[in-house]
Amino acid sequence: MTKSRRKWHAETKACANIALAKYWGKADIPLNLPAVPSISMTLDGLVTETRIRVDETLDADRVELDGREATASESKRVIALLDDIRRRAKRREFAHVVSRNRFPTAAGLASSASGFAALASAADHAYELGASDRVLSAIARQASASAARSIYGGFVELPAGKPGQKSLAAKPLFDADHWDLRIVVAQTAKGPKKVGSTEGMERSRETSPFYDAWVAKAPAITKRIRQALRKRDLDTLGAAMEQSTMAFHACAMTAEPSIFYWQPATLAAVHAVRQLRDEKGLSVWCTMDAGPHVKTLCHADDARKVRAALKKTEGVLSTLVAKPGPGVQTR
Ligand code: ADP
Repeated sequence: MTKSRRKWHAETKACANIALAKYWGKADIPLNLPAVPSISMTLDGLVTETRIRVDETLDADRVELDGREATASESKRVIALLDDIRRRAKRREFAHVVSRNRFPTAAGLASSASGFAALASAADHAYELGASDRVLSAIARQASASAARSIYGGFVELPAGKPGQKSLAAKPLFDADHWDLRIVVAQTAKGPKKVGSTEGMERSRETSPFYDAWVAKAPAITKRIRQALRKRDLDTLGAAMEQSTMAFHACAMTAEPSIFYWQPATLAAVHAVRQLRDEKGLSVWCTMDAGPHVKTLCHADDARKVRAALKKTEGVLSTLVAKPGPGVQTR
């Protein structure tokens, strides 16, 4: 039977996510399994749009990213995911992938999370695999652990993996409407980060004297965050998120050579957030990923004040506000 060509394409939107309980370190590099559990909030404002068309006439995959031909290393990661989907779907045809991040790529705003979540879902549709969200999450995780979480909306947990573990998927904890929180992002630098996450994690594992302590402590911090989310207790959640953030950055900073993701404006924004807490009594908390930007967590009602304070912080280039967002959407 000839398959209907109409189905061999798909368009997907996926949102990036911000880790409240941070992911830093791998338990198994080839299988891309995290050494620590993480919890994230999917962000409605930071979107990747991916189109895929399976094309029998192509003799190789074609990948476009942000309006240009993808580099060899970018294409390699995309093709590895497509190969996985093709293997599972027992299909051979190549595909044309066109993806656009509606926010800066590779700059510490989690483009790999939304990028690979979108790709997994789009490829699943285009190759007519029909995988469950759980399977898609496990497929996306192999490309980027944080992408496993972006399959789902709201608040999502990715457990730690064990070396050699066959499959590991994220699981949704609470829907987007569970809690009306906001993340205010303060962009503090332009351009891609100098040390990619994978390299930074490996260097931390191999050389930081704090790595083992971080891995040992992370499950307890994650548990506090999960419980605080359930109870909608922002003071407890925020304090635990800051501890998770500082612990992983301490680990990176004490690697050899040191990995330092912060800029002067990063620290300025952290202090601005503390000032809002100490002097204005706002429940506002900050976190930074493997990059210089500061993401602050607060109640929806406080987002305007937080944004105004960050806007006038020296070195902050731009700000944006995101609320809990949906999981992948494909058509
Ligand atoms: P970020 O903080 O943006 O996630 P990373 O260095 O962790 O930065 O990941 C960026 C990499 O993820 C890119 O270099 C590219 O290989 C991949 N990536 C980003 N966006 C997409 C996308 N839309 N589709 C496919 N791959 C993507």
